[in-house]
Amino acid sequence: MIEKILTQDKWKGLVATPDDVILRKIGAIFEASKGTVVKWESNTKQEAYIYRDKKDKRCYHISLSNPPHPLIPTLVSGHHELAHMGFDSFTGKSVKEFFAKWVDKFPANYKYKPMAKEMYEMLANIIEDERIESLLGDIYAGIGNDFEKYGAKVGESYEALDKKDQNPCNAILCVRFGRIDLCPKEWRKEAIKALEDVRMTNKHGLLTCGERYVDKILYPWLLKNGHTIPIKYVMTSAGNMAGDYNAKCDHRALGNESDEKSNAPKKAKSLKDCKEGGESDTNAFRENAEKHARERHTKPKNQMPEDCGVITYLNIELKCTSMVMLWIYLQS
Ligand SMILES: [Zn+2]
Repeated sequence: MIEKILTQDKWKGLVATPDDVILRKIGAIFEASKGTVVKWESNTKQEAYIYRDKKDKRCYHISLSNPPHPLIPTLVSGHHELAHMGFDSFTGKSVKEFFAKWVDKFPANYKYKPMAKEMYEMLANIIEDERIESLLGDIYAGIGNDFEKYGAKVGESYEALDKKDQNPCNAILCVRFGRIDLCPKEWRKEAIKALEDVRMTNKHGLLTCGERYVDKILYPWLLKNGHTIPIKYVMTSAGNMAGDYNAKCDHRALGNESDEKSNAPKKAKSLKDCKEGGESDTNAFRENAEKHARERHTKPKNQMPEDCGVITYLNIELKCTSMVMLWIYLQS
């Protein structure tokens, strides 16, 4: 009976498991909070990503893997992608422009700008992921714990790289997933600082915290090592799981999908401003979520969406169970 209800597929291409039902409900809170619409999609490539609709700018598409990723449950990757929408990751174009200034900084005879650009974008994705997970984790402690738990599982799957094969993007991702041992000692302090600083900041935090890591670690490294590593190494080398995992996933392509006018700040905001902005973002989200919950609660039952079958079923089950227990109690 339950199985039959659960496999009523209301999502495009996704079988509605209990996790999916929870995710969709959480998605409704995000939609109400941001005034957006989420279209859920699936892919078979073990990828999770989000992109903005080309025509309807209020609409975001989130694609999750079916079957699920072997290490990360759908519920966790779905929350992660929602957090990108909820906390304004959609500044891809401006981020690209921001990092473009670092690409322009290379000497005229530097031949490895495409690779450098690739690595700047990868770094942006890693730091941004830390930012949005910290904000959502602050609102929903349970999912914050899940981000940590499954991040550590991904980290456990990383194999040690030869020091000569390590690069600053993989290194900071290893730190993010709890594998500080895989980050060369000379980069650890800055990697930890970038990730700690960006936590609980608003959408400007990425630039503020990323700039320093680029300046101190990535740019000097690229100057010295750009000639040694072909761009495909960054993307696909088998031993380079960290980079590969990160390159396939997420919102890296958002800037390409968006035709938003550039709003790249001329100068990074102060960390204090970014943290204050992060606090007001989470407060606003909480207020909106509570308002949404109140409105749903006061809605007459006949206006509930028809696709709440599982919840209705569970409610009936609970009521029946309570009545049976009351009857047993009265008989005893
Ligand atoms: Zn992400």
